Amino acid sequence: MTSTAQQEISVSSSSGTRPVSKDAIINLDHGDPTMFESFWMGVGEAADITIPSWRTLSYFSDVTNFCWFLQPEFAHEARRLHSLVGNAVADDRFLVIGTGSTQLFQAALFALSPSDAPEPMSVVSAVPYYSSFPRITDYLRSGLYRWRGDASKFEGDAYIEVVCSPNNPDGSIREAVLKSGNGKTIHDLAYYWPQYIPITGAANHDIMLFTVSKLSGHAGTRLGWALVKDVEVAKKMVKFIELNTIGVSKDSQLRAAIILKAISDGYERPDLQTKPDLKMFEFGRRLLSMRWQKLREAVKASGIFTLPHFESVHCKFTGETTEACPAFAWLKCEREGTQDCADLLKKHKILVRSGGHFGVESNYARVSMVDRDETFDLFIERLMSLR
Ligand code: PMP
Repeated sequence: MTSTAQQEISVSSSSGTRPVSKDAIINLDHGDPTMFESFWMGVGEAADITIPSWRTLSYFSDVTNFCWFLQPEFAHEARRLHSLVGNAVADDRFLVIGTGSTQLFQAALFALSPSDAPEPMSVVSAVPYYSSFPRITDYLRSGLYRWRGDASKFEGDAYIEVVCSPNNPDGSIREAVLKSGNGKTIHDLAYYWPQYIPITGAANHDIMLFTVSKLSGHAGTRLGWALVKDVEVAKKMVKFIELNTIGVSKDSQLRAAIILKAISDGYERPDLQTKPDLKMFEFGRRLLSMRWQKLREAVKASGIFTLPHFESVHCKFTGETTEACPAFAWLKCEREGTQDCADLLKKHKILVRSGGHFGVESNYARVSMVDRDETFDLFIERLMSLR
């Protein structure tokens, strides 16, 4: 990575905006989860929150908890939701809150790297890996850890392997590829929710990261949580957050607690159970599966690209047998003589992220599937016109 690439700000004037005309720039580079806006508009007041001016002044939330900046309301709702969905073992695990799972990833690297090792700990992930992993690992040039690239090519037995499942960018289900007894793992389960993938069982790994960004679309709330088996690791993660930001916004935690509560209530409260508009996972799955169908048709018609195939699997949460509907489409450009998929799309004013960011060739590119309807529909329209 060059120093200019590191310093580049990856936000452009089209990030987060609606396309204003038929030939506007379509920005599907980030995974900005605005598709959930219409769901939350439908939920209305049930998920609103007012925080009086005299609340949340103190730095401290619960000094009886090792994670002293964790709001108990949030911890309760996070555990409740995991138990409803069945996607992760949350009881008897230490819960650490973070400013997005981005902060928790760094806290986990800090916690898993010995402070007195002669060499920085190697951090790896199998390709294609989430583009932020290498950048976040190396931007401060820490003496504690260093990015070493593709896990499948790594030799050695001391390492931290990051496992993202379902994987950003390609939607695949993943397990650790390295098996050394000295190795450590961080499981990023940001997308292990029923709108994206059938839930096949409760994940039970040493460190599991989740985020409201991908669960409910509240990326701007900047809130993630980690479920951690080992108390010493959990305490070191808390230490990192103490040093890094002296805790995590209480306002965000209170808001996120209400959001999570509204999701669970939509399934568990007897008076709400018959209201389909309040079932967030069904909303997400319906929308994503329609989008995937449209995308597959457009890709087929173009004759230029291919997409990964996903087997249908039984989902223990919905009881249905369904395919994955990942938050990103991993496009492969098959046209002879075209090396760069993102570059080809950019010529048609479609911004996506090139394979190089994920450790693979540029004939691959990642496209966000979680933007607003109008952006997605315009993308499909433009894709159909590509020849
Ligand atoms: N992990 C993965 C795999 C992601 O895709 C993202 C968001 N793109 C994050 C973590 C970051 O989440 P947050 O917004 O909670 O920092």
